[in-house]
Formats: sequence, C-alpha cells, structure tokens
Amino acid sequence: MEAKWKLYHHQEILRRMDTILLFSGGMDSLVSAGLLLEKSPEKVVTCVFFDYDQHTAEIEWKRSQQCIAHFPPERITLIRRRLTDYKEYVKGVSIVGGGHIPTKDEDPEGYFVPGRNIIFLLYAAILGYGHGCREIAYSPHKWVHAGDCLPEFREAITQAFHWGFSMERKTDPWLVWSPIGHLGKDEVVKEGTRLGLPLHLSWSCHDALEEQCGVCHNCDERQLAYRLAEIPDPTPYLNPPDVRRIHYRTGGLS
Ligand SMILES: [Zn+2]
Repeated sequence: MEAKWKLYHHQEILRRMDTILLFSGGMDSLVSAGLLLEKSPEKVVTCVFFDYDQHTAEIEWKRSQQCIAHFPPERITLIRRRLTDYKEYVKGVSIVGGGHIPTKDEDPEGYFVPGRNIIFLLYAAILGYGHGCREIAYSPHKWVHAGDCLPEFREAITQAFHWGFSMERKTDPWLVWSPIGHLGKDEVVKEGTRLGLPLHLSWSCHDALEEQCGVCHNCDERQLAYRLAEIPDPTPYLNPPDVRRIHYRTGGLS
C-alpha cells in the first residue's frame, strides 16, 4: 500500500515524540488530546490524521487543524497521512466508496470500515518506533462495541507490537490505549466541557455537507450524549435534533 507522510510541522515532528494520538477531528479525539495534555504535562503529543478516501476527509482535516490550534503549539502537533489505495480494499463501505449514508433509523453496517484501526495503529507504531515512542493512543469510548474498539483488542495489539517490533527478543514495552476508554459518550462531553475544549469545532457527521446533518448515526449519538450530559449542544445541525426520539432514548430526560 503506497503512502507518504505529509509533514505539516517538519521541525516539530523531528523533535521529541512521547505519545502518538490518532486524530480524526471528532469530539472523541479532541477530548483525548485534552486529557493527554492535562494528565501528562511533561509529554509532547503527536496527532496523526489519516486520509483514506473517506468522503468527509477534507472537512475532518479542516476541523482537525482548528481543534489542534486550541492547544499550545509546543505541546502538540498534527500531521496528515494518506492511504492512497485503501478504498480499493474496502468494498461496500458507504463512507469510503461513496453511496447512501444510513440515517439513524437504518442499518449502520455500511459505516464499519474493516481493518481501519489496525492499519492506523500499525502506521502510528512504525512512526513511533523510529522516534523512540512506544505509546499509541486512539479514542474509542464505552458506547462503541466494534471489536477494534474494545479493551481486549487493545491488549492484543499491544502484545502484537511487543513481538512485531522485537529485535532478537529485545524490545521496549508498548502501550496501545484510549484516554476515554473508561467513559461513556456523555462523560466525554462533560470532560470536554470541563477542559474548555472547542467541542463545537469537532466533526462527528458521516455526511459531507456544509454543516453536520443531524440525522446520521453519529449525529444521533452526539445529540444523545449532550442530552444525557445535560449540557446544551452548541453544534449547528442542518436538521434539528429529534427531541422526541432523544427524550425516549434518555428515559424521559427533559
Ligand atoms: Zn450526520
């Protein structure tokens, strides 16, 4: 799979690299970045954005840059990575190959991109290996049940890196983890709000419109999380939140 690193802050990437964080421009990766910087004031975080021909790539990239601009530039940097032929491998995935974006009332199967997190984490690990970095973070939370978002997966791929980057049985311990793995999405909203992060700039939507659609599964989850957190949702949606549906799903919170 041909690919080249596109370095946006060349000097920064050549300096110390302590933690690599997969960054999509979404709320989850934004809150992960905030928590990483808060909990480890001595660490430098390198965020990696992947363009794999997802049709929201340019929106996500723009929002990623805006989100990262919130943080001190000496603590965090952002680079973009392009997987040039990824879509040739993942047929039938609507958010990569095009096609209908399922609404919140339709089967979300078309969203699942097989192998995505394995490939992203592996490339991040290769980058980290060359810079002495053995800590890779990404941002699944407790509401996500895809296999590559579960604690068991993180333990397994940590072990895979331990052996996969071993030289004659000599290796450093790896850590693949999620800074928000212990949180529900509503708690992610609360943490992002507590940290004063620009959550309104983060992009959740599966569609590539001028604003977030308000009717896809990700928009639905975002709206539900704000409602459960009892925090006003500042996100501009093309379609207003379905208050009755959210009311039902939150057990009558009003
Ligand atoms: Zn949407």
